[in-house]
Amino acid sequence: MSDTNKAVTDSAVYKTLLESTKAIPWKIDWKTMTFAYIGPQIETLLGWTQDSWISANDWAERMHAEDRDRVVNFCVSQSQSGIDHEADYRALTKDGRYVWIRDVVHVMRDANGEVDSLIGFMFDISERKQTEEQLIRLQKELEEYSYKDGLTGINNRRMFDSIMDIEWANAQRTQRPLSLILLDIDFFKQYNDHYGHIRGDDCLKRVGQALTQAATRPRDFLARFGGEEFVLVLPETDEKSAKKIAERCRRAIRKQQIVHEHSTVAQILTISLGVGTLIPAPHSAPLAFIDAVDRLLYKAKQGGRDRLEYARCLPDQLILRGDQAFL
Ligand code: GH3
Ligand code: MG
Ligand code: MG
Repeated sequence: MSDTNKAVTDSAVYKTLLESTKAIPWKIDWKTMTFAYIGPQIETLLGWTQDSWISANDWAERMHAEDRDRVVNFCVSQSQSGIDHEADYRALTKDGRYVWIRDVVHVMRDANGEVDSLIGFMFDISERKQTEEQLIRLQKELEEYSYKDGLTGINNRRMFDSIMDIEWANAQRTQRPLSLILLDIDFFKQYNDHYGHIRGDDCLKRVGQALTQAATRPRDFLARFGGEEFVLVLPETDEKSAKKIAERCRRAIRKQQIVHEHSTVAQILTISLGVGTLIPAPHSAPLAFIDAVDRLLYKAKQGGRDRLEYARCLPDQLILRGDQAFL
């Protein structure tokens, strides 16, 4: 094959390749600001015929008004500086819709180093943009639903419910022990009655903060369970460690030295805790476990407060005989 023939064949191959990709190739002559080439795929995507793309103005005018200034200014300044670049914008279709495009631009220079032309590819990124927009909407929704408790700034009950479900399923799968601590401030009604609700609220914030320091592993999870009750979910934590953390919580609150003259257990604020550990049985749900730990908390209150009550929970009994679920 002669060199000329080979060049002709090569250029036909390149043309076929260029025109069969989903990306749309184009070339703009820098000096005249006119299209030297644009792939025929442009008509399939936007409806405008291949030969209707004459000047760079056609490109700018077929762009969403909100994107135009930003994109045109950016592309011109990058091209002037000879920098390859890319830009996302909404391109107008012939029937008046918009399609999200990512334009990837390479700046070609002549022998003197002057900008000669721009060549690039347009990619249809509508689907990706839709997914991004969905994600952003979802994120906003999540923020609105807020997983934080407004007063203490720690996780709220809703978040606890989600995390508990996740960790329950994890523990079911791995058959590693899951521990739960429910704790409640002692004589908090008296605290409010004596010091007022504002100081009561401050007190709850301090308790939340102090408890944050007590469980330190990355997956340990603290939430405000309700009123003046807090909950700690401790994945992959056996009874010995759970007891240790519960005791650390109790001491952390005492260390705050929050004066509570009307408590009958101490002159400072104290808490009572229910602590349970189990390996969840297949097909079981966390509710009975939470109930069981709540009963332990009640037992700690009955037993004199400022203390913890512990039990290892038997999953089968939890399901079958909720009341006597403990060893
Ligand atoms: P016990 O030792 O048995 O737990 O006694 P207690 O007085 O702490 O228990 P009780 O459940 O009777 O009282 C809880 C109190 O917590 C009642 C309510 O006024 C107070 N409380 C609940 N939520 C808030 C809150 O957001 N702010 C304030 N300041 N107080 C709250
Ligand atoms: Mg309570
Ligand atoms: Mg209480």
